[in-house]
Amino acid sequence: MDLYEYQAKDLFAAHGVPVLPGRTVETADDAKAAASELGTAVVVKAQVKTGGRGKAGGVKLAQTPDEAKEKAEAILGLDIKGHTVHRVLVTEASDIAEEYYFSFLLDRSNRTFLAMCSAEGGMEIEELAVERPEALARIPIDAIAGVDKAKADEIVAAGKIPAAVADQAADVIVKLWDTFVAEDATLVEVNPLVRDPEGKVIALDGKVTLDENAEFRHSEHKGLVDERTENPLEAKAKAKGLNYVKLDDGQVGIIGNGAGLVMSTLDVVAYAGEKHGNVKPANFLDIGGGASADIMAAGLDVILGDDDVKSVFVNVFGGITSCDAVANGIVEALKILGDGATKPLVVRLDGNSVEEGRKILADANHPLVTVVGTMDDAADKAAELAAGA
Ligand code: GDP
Ligand code: MN
Repeated sequence: MDLYEYQAKDLFAAHGVPVLPGRTVETADDAKAAASELGTAVVVKAQVKTGGRGKAGGVKLAQTPDEAKEKAEAILGLDIKGHTVHRVLVTEASDIAEEYYFSFLLDRSNRTFLAMCSAEGGMEIEELAVERPEALARIPIDAIAGVDKAKADEIVAAGKIPAAVADQAADVIVKLWDTFVAEDATLVEVNPLVRDPEGKVIALDGKVTLDENAEFRHSEHKGLVDERTENPLEAKAKAKGLNYVKLDDGQVGIIGNGAGLVMSTLDVVAYAGEKHGNVKPANFLDIGGGASADIMAAGLDVILGDDDVKSVFVNVFGGITSCDAVANGIVEALKILGDGATKPLVVRLDGNSVEEGRKILADANHPLVTVVGTMDDAADKAAELAAGA
C-alpha cells in the first residue's frame, strides 16, 4: 500500500526523522486556518499518490493565510496524472540551500535491500538515473546487518553528500532505516532531503510503500487506508478473502483456481482476443483451492460488478476440490446471484471428477452458461462473446 506524503511524514516523525510541522485539510478555508496556526510562510501541497506534483502545479508557496487559501483553491480538485486532489497538506515552508535524494527499497532482482543516495536531489530521480547514473549511489543493504551509523556514513560518502552535513544526514538515514524495518516498508523515499540555510537536514517530501504481507502485525496501519481512492471492487474482493486485481482496458472477466492457472488464462485470453477486435482480460481473480458455492458466488459477484466485463471465463482444474464441487458451486452461485447475473459465462472444467462436473452443468442448463472442453476453445468463446456484446 502506498501512503500519502503526510502519512509518510507522520511515520518519519514517529521515528525521529526531522520533518516540518503541518496539517492536512480538505477545504481552502481550513487551509487558511492552518496557515494562521502555523504562523509562518507555508507550502500548500496536493496529497495524491503520484510523483511530480510540483511540476503539475500541486505544490505552491504562500506567504500569508489569505494566499494559502488562494493556493489551496487552485490545488483542490486538480487532476494530477489521473488522481483528483481531495486534500492538501499545509506545512511550514523551508528555505532550501541544497536538495538531496535518499531512498531504501526492496531490490527484488538482487534479493536484497538497496539504499540509493545522491547529492543531486529534487529533480525526478528516474531522469538522474538515466542521464547521470554516476551521481546516484546504489548500496546494497544486508537484511540481517541492517544500517548502523557506520553503514550510513558509507552511504552518505557514496552519495557525495557535502561534509558539512554528512554526520546529520547519516543520523537521518539510520532513522529512515528504523522506519523501513519497524513499519515493514518496501520503499522509503525522501526527495528532496534538504539542507536549510541554517545547515539543518530536513525531509521535505516523503514516499512510503508498506508491505501488505505484513499487515497482520500492524493493526495500527488500518487507519492509513483511504476508502475514497480504493477501487471498490478490489475492496469488496479483499473483504471476502479473494485474490483479485482489476486490469485496464479488458472485457473478459477471469476466474480460476490457483495463481498459475489464472496467469496462463490471462495469456490465452489475450491471445484469443486478438482475433476478436483485440479483446483483453479484465481482471485476475484466483478463488484458490476450495471453490465452494459461497466463494464462487463472491467471485462472480465481484466480476459481474465490473461494468467493463462483457463475458466471464471460469477456468477450473479440479484437484483437491473436484469438478463436481466446482460445478455445484457455479450452479448455486447463479441461484444466489439471481437477476444479478447478467453476463455470459464460459466454463472450462478439467481434472478430478470432470465428467460429473460437466453433467451437473448440463443438467442445470443455465441460459448464461456455455461449457467448453478445452482452455483454448473456451478462451476463444469468451473473447467472441465479449466482442459481440
Ligand atoms: P513532488 O513534486 O511530488 O516530488 O513534491 P515535493 O514535495 O518534492 O515538492 C516539489 C518541489 O517543491 C521540491 O523539490 C522543492 O523544490 C519545492 N518545495 C517543497 N516544499 C518546499 C518548501 O518548504 N520550501 C521551498 N522553498 N520549496 C519547497
Ligand atoms: Mn518529491
